Amino acid sequence: MKRVYMDNAATTALKKEVLDAMMPYLTDIYGNPSSLHTFGQEAHKAVENARHQVAKALNAADDREIIFTGCGTESDNMVLLGIAQRYAKKGKHIITSAVEHHAVLYTCERLEKMGYEVTYLPVDEYGMVTAAQVSEAIRPDTILVSIMFGNNEVGTVMPIKRIGEVCREKGVFFHTDAVQAVGHVHIDVQDMNIDLLSLSAHKFHGPKGVGALYVKKGIVVPALLTGGAQERNKRAGTENVAGIVGLGKAIELACSDIDESSARMTHLRDKLMTGIAGSIPEVKLNGHPTERLPGNVNFSIKYIEGESILLMLDINGIAASSGSACTSGSLDPSHVLLAMGLPHEIAHGSLRLTLGDDTTEEEVDYVLEVLPKVVERLRKMSPLYKG
Ligand SMILES: *Cc1c(COP(=O)(O)O)cnc(C)c1O
Repeated sequence: MKRVYMDNAATTALKKEVLDAMMPYLTDIYGNPSSLHTFGQEAHKAVENARHQVAKALNAADDREIIFTGCGTESDNMVLLGIAQRYAKKGKHIITSAVEHHAVLYTCERLEKMGYEVTYLPVDEYGMVTAAQVSEAIRPDTILVSIMFGNNEVGTVMPIKRIGEVCREKGVFFHTDAVQAVGHVHIDVQDMNIDLLSLSAHKFHGPKGVGALYVKKGIVVPALLTGGAQERNKRAGTENVAGIVGLGKAIELACSDIDESSARMTHLRDKLMTGIAGSIPEVKLNGHPTERLPGNVNFSIKYIEGESILLMLDINGIAASSGSACTSGSLDPSHVLLAMGLPHEIAHGSLRLTLGDDTTEEEVDYVLEVLPKVVERLRKMSPLYKG
């Protein structure tokens, strides 16, 4: 049977070239990068090479602005908890949006319990926050603005450069969770006024369990993990050398042809979007029609449950998702769709199809062949659907 993977926002397939780059560090080159002997120094060199690859991909001014972490979640936690701790004397106010990943939202909730005040900016019907909203929310005691680059559920890409400008003018640090955007959208931390940025390798065809944090020179983010002196005392623990090498290789590959790959993916995304809108009645596109990640398609399909669509697609070999991977175990409606103003019953019935660098036109055609039939069948069984 055909197997079509359309859940690249949850995780992506490891590229062959990435695995090849990692392999020596899982076998022969097993030294500890902190060791001074040759075994260690070979590993150390590989970590520093990967740091350079990441810095170059983001146009960071200095390799030392990159800290390797264990995942995107850790990078988000490190920024929020670290900035809150280090700059508490300046103030205890943080601004974020209502549609962030839980790695940001739940950490903000923790900070609230610790006596910080968090403003959750509301979004418009497309899941967008404006720079003007950020500007109005900044107060003298604001220490951090954290707004995601691209939304993991509905794909909306935020006006990052303008938000960065506002933060710079007002002298407030600007963090962006760019886990969904890195490797898919052109990012330049200097041009976009980004002070802190989180990324994760497994979202751009790298390995799982390794991430990075960009911290602009001059900003102090205290360590979350203490112990050894790794990562210039910013992240204790022996480096995941093979993972870091894989992250470096994956970001280099993804960013080397980002214009072409993003144009190719956008073409497939638009084919999928127009195909669904044209062949299935009573569907609603979620997220911004144009300001969206090149690989994200998200529809509310009225009168049927998201879970039943997923099950039927899975039977037909298609892996998709309803909202985010993290919440799909629960039956709660998506906090992102609710923040966008969708009523509960519609927020339940959403379908997310996310493309990767390896998605083919044939796979898109297969989904467009299967999905309308699945929806029709489910709707026939739905007491809510009158035809
Ligand atoms: C996947 C994701 C994360 C978490 O990254 P992990 O490496 O899986 O911890 C954080 N933010 C966004 C927007 C994501 O899509």
